[in-house]
Amino acid sequence: MKTTTPSFILELPLKTTPVQESTILVRLDAGRQLYNACLGESLKRLDLLRQSKEYQQIRTLPKGKSRTEAFNALNKKFEFTEYDVHHYAAGVRNSWINEHIGIHIAQKIATRAFKAVQKKAFGKAKNVRFKGNNQFDTLEGKNNETGLIFRNNTLYWAGLEMPCIIDEKSDVISYGLNHEIKYCRIVRRKINSKNRFYVQLILEGIPYQKPKNKIGTEEIGLDVGPSTIAIVGDTKAELKQFCSEIAPKQKEKRKLQRKQDRQRRANNPENYNENGTVKKGKKKWKKSNRYKKTSSELAELDRKLAAHRKSLHGKDINDIIAMGTRITTENIPYKAWQKMYGKSIQVRAPSMFISSLKRKAENAGGYLIEFPTNTTKLSQVCHICGNALPKPLSQRWHICCGIEMQRDLYSAFLAKCVDIETSSLDIARAQQIWPGLEPVLSEAVSRVIQSASGGKVPSSFGVGYQRQSGSPVEPVATVTEAADDVVRDNIYEDESRREVI
Ligand SMILES: [Zn+2]
Repeated sequence: MKTTTPSFILELPLKTTPVQESTILVRLDAGRQLYNACLGESLKRLDLLRQSKEYQQIRTLPKGKSRTEAFNALNKKFEFTEYDVHHYAAGVRNSWINEHIGIHIAQKIATRAFKAVQKKAFGKAKNVRFKGNNQFDTLEGKNNETGLIFRNNTLYWAGLEMPCIIDEKSDVISYGLNHEIKYCRIVRRKINSKNRFYVQLILEGIPYQKPKNKIGTEEIGLDVGPSTIAIVGDTKAELKQFCSEIAPKQKEKRKLQRKQDRQRRANNPENYNENGTVKKGKKKWKKSNRYKKTSSELAELDRKLAAHRKSLHGKDINDIIAMGTRITTENIPYKAWQKMYGKSIQVRAPSMFISSLKRKAENAGGYLIEFPTNTTKLSQVCHICGNALPKPLSQRWHICCGIEMQRDLYSAFLAKCVDIETSSLDIARAQQIWPGLEPVLSEAVSRVIQSASGGKVPSSFGVGYQRQSGSPVEPVATVTEAADDVVRDNIYEDESRREVI
């Protein structure tokens, strides 16, 4: 039953009538209750298992085959296996849920719940979450023969017959529809506080590659900074801002979050201590209609933000792939960044960017290799003398041994010179290709300045000074005030989001 062939998803909006919509909502809610039941039962079984004497004994065994086997046997004894939870779900389904949820869909729900508890058992998750009203948004089948069935551009689901909205001209859609369907998933999204329904077809194969997306052949060194991105190929280089357009929306979001926080406090003064912190222990939260309105505005903004980010990421990714698909880059020190820059990093989602770039590069026959920062120290090292000197983030230029280069471009250049076998900088190679690339990198810096003519060059580039016209780019050695432009904006953030209700 487990499939290992590659799959991709095609999503199509559904044309639903109000009657169908309420039926779907009832089914989603039945799914939610079944999910919660399976979650509760799995948790209970896990607890019993852990309280057992055998569990304590097996834990003391040395790691190895016999320990694993003993644990497997114990899991069976306490019925803490996917199979047993399926069985449990079948029992629950023998109630009113039976009317709304087919057996395959029920099994998928059971698996989802069991896997959540398993994550907790393995210490990969702190806790599991029961789903509240309206928090269960997807249901899926096991195949395209029973339960959710997609045929003739229509989704059939136990008495419902919902045509899909299909853009005949879209290559992505016709490509997807030409592939074998593994199974279907129905998805509910709240858009402008209305419910919209979609079918996701899980298809066998690899996702569509737009032909107009050129695939380049250069070797790429990449540097993703908190607010910049530097790309260095063999004959081209580029320095640009990373997801900068998204920052204003983030401000709008913070404004709404503060508003929501004020409303929450005004509605629930009894839940707060005198110093403004939230009281400990179990509490009831009153939600005014205004509060609910703000919440739905926030959800809508979040959705827009995610869509906007996706398109910005996509554009940058396509630009990189057009240059080349063999990419090397330093691991993003995401945790350290979060400490320094807070939510403004989260909104740009650099890790998500890297993983989708990786996927696209691999789909195009290339690779993306991340190497550990601590072994290469690209932000410190000089390829002529080999010295590693820590630079504060505010220092935007690498200046050593006669080299003067914008720091992110220089790091990207060094990333290009990392030996992927040993994950260490190939100094000889760097020295060999630097003379040819230096003018390319300098040109990338001048392009940044030119394109910003009139406008302000972001301080994170470290080129925000007015240079005399006509002269070649002359980096100023003393650009030190230019802290990244994402540092400041995180004062209220955590306050308003501390209590998840
Ligand atoms: Zn040097």
